[in-house]
Amino acid sequence: MSLSEINARIDKACADHGRDRADVQLIAVSKVQPNEVVEEVLKEGHRVFGENKVQEAAGKWPMFRESYDGIELHIIGPLQSNKARQAMELAQWIHTVDRPKIASTIARLAQELGHCPQLFIQVNTGEEEQKAGVMPADADGFIKECLAMDLPVRGLMCIPPVDEEASLHFALLRKIAERNGLKGLSMGMSGDFEKAISFGATHVRVGSAIFGERNYG
Ligand SMILES: *Cc1c(COP(=O)(O)O)cnc(C)c1O
Repeated sequence: MSLSEINARIDKACADHGRDRADVQLIAVSKVQPNEVVEEVLKEGHRVFGENKVQEAAGKWPMFRESYDGIELHIIGPLQSNKARQAMELAQWIHTVDRPKIASTIARLAQELGHCPQLFIQVNTGEEEQKAGVMPADADGFIKECLAMDLPVRGLMCIPPVDEEASLHFALLRKIAERNGLKGLSMGMSGDFEKAISFGATHVRVGSAIFGERNYG
C-alpha cells in the first residue's frame, strides 16, 4: 500500500457513502516507523500525522518541522498527566481525553500556555478492562464536564475490540456524539477505515496500510 492508494480508497469510500471528501481527514500513524519511511510520506506532500507516545513524537517531529511546513500532529495514545504539557506543546490535536484528572490538567495548562490543542474524548465502547477511554454510560456526563471547563472538544474517538464487529462500535460512538452535539468522529484504522467512513468518521487513523507493518524489533 501507499499514501496515494489509501487516498484513492478514501475517495471511493466517500463517493460510495455520500460523504464529502473534505469532511474526512487522513491521519498517517507514524509510530515506530523509521524516519526514512516517514519522510517519504512527507515528501509526497502529506502533513497530518499521528503518534501514540509523546516521548517518541518529541524525538521526531520538532526535527521534521525544521524541514517541512504545515505539519499537524495528533496524539492518539493514552495520555499521562505528567506528559500533558509536552503533548500540548507538540500536538495540534489530542484524541485521548478520558478522565476528569487529565481534563482539568489540560484546562490548567491551556491557561498557562495560552493555547490548547483541539480535543477528542476517547470512549471505551467495548468496555475493555485494559483499554483507555471513558465508559459509554459515563460519556455524556464527562463530555458536559469537559465543555464546562471550556475545553475545545471537537468529537469522540474509539478503538473497537479486535475480536468484535467494528460497525457496532462505530455506530455507538456516532450515537453518543450526536446526542451531545459533537461533530468529530475519530475512528477507523488500516483494517476498517472504509467502514468507519460509512459510519461518519471525520478522522481515520491509518498506520500499517500506508507505511507497512511496524517492526517493534
Ligand atoms: C497504531 C494505531 C493506529 C493505526 O493502526 P494501523 O492498524 O496500523 O492502521 C490507529 N489508532 C491508534 C490509537 C493506534 O495506536
